[in-house]
Amino acid sequence: MKIINVFANDTVLSRDTKKLLKRKLEKSEFIVPREYDPGAELIICIGGDGSFLETLRKYDFPDIPFIGINTGHLGFFQELHPDGLDEFIFKYKQGKYEIQHLKTVKAVVTVGEDRFEYTGLNEILIKGELSRAIHLNISIGDSFIERFSGDGILVSTPAGSTAYNYSLGGSIVDPRLKLLQVTPIAPMNTTAYRSFTSSLILPPNLSIRINPEHSGGQGLLIVSDSQEHLHESVDEIYLEFSESIVKLLRFENYDFWTKVKSKFL
Ligand code: NAP
Ligand code: MN
Repeated sequence: MKIINVFANDTVLSRDTKKLLKRKLEKSEFIVPREYDPGAELIICIGGDGSFLETLRKYDFPDIPFIGINTGHLGFFQELHPDGLDEFIFKYKQGKYEIQHLKTVKAVVTVGEDRFEYTGLNEILIKGELSRAIHLNISIGDSFIERFSGDGILVSTPAGSTAYNYSLGGSIVDPRLKLLQVTPIAPMNTTAYRSFTSSLILPPNLSIRINPEHSGGQGLLIVSDSQEHLHESVDEIYLEFSESIVKLLRFENYDFWTKVKSKFL
């Protein structure tokens, strides 16, 4: 049997859309289970980008393809509108879609003997717990690059380049490129401190190593797609592409740059 997981956030429009969609899918002989079914062939997420990212995280970046229905504000990941349900089901049954593969970024955080791993589709950012500057020794591959001083750094995937990264002055990256972007957050440049002021763009096989200094007496927040993780006395943070790939259904009229234009200009 063909199973489709459908999730909606809490708005009235999302919940109504979910009810309607469930009825339509069942009429087309799909099963829509009450709870998440790992054997499903598709996950439909009704809401905005935030609820899409939350669903990904909740089910630990499953290998199942996703499609989003935008009832939120921006909906950059979301491909459909609530009024396009019939057309979607028709095209889906005919296999008239492509699957976009999006790479995710992971951080491995070492604190003494403990290791923690976090994954993000948009980005992972590192900042101080308090409103004081932090100091991060940053290496790329095997080379020490700089002692960064400022609010923090953000490591963005191509998919996340249009999110927080863009607000920080980072570049918009076509997701067909496989690269990580390291964007500084309020870098300090004085006779006391020296940091890069532009984003650094790295090839997929290079990792980033960060050894924080603890002199300020504050913990670090490691934030993966808005999810905060507070750690004290971090020894090392290692960042690289993760093995988890997010699969998104795209229909024939999808074009990344058209989407950028429609959402940003
Ligand atoms: P949020 O604070 O509601 O998100 C801020 C905005 O970012 C929302 O309009 C959201 O779209 C949009 N967004 C999310 N992913 C995007 C992407 N890949 N490309 C373009 N826009 C995107 O929080 P949220 O909805 O949970 O989203 C989490 C993301 O927000 C984080 O991963 C981070 O990138 C971003 N963020 C941005 C800033 C900033 O720009 N100053 C600050 C904090 C977080 P929807 O309206 O559809 O939800
Ligand atoms: Mn949101």
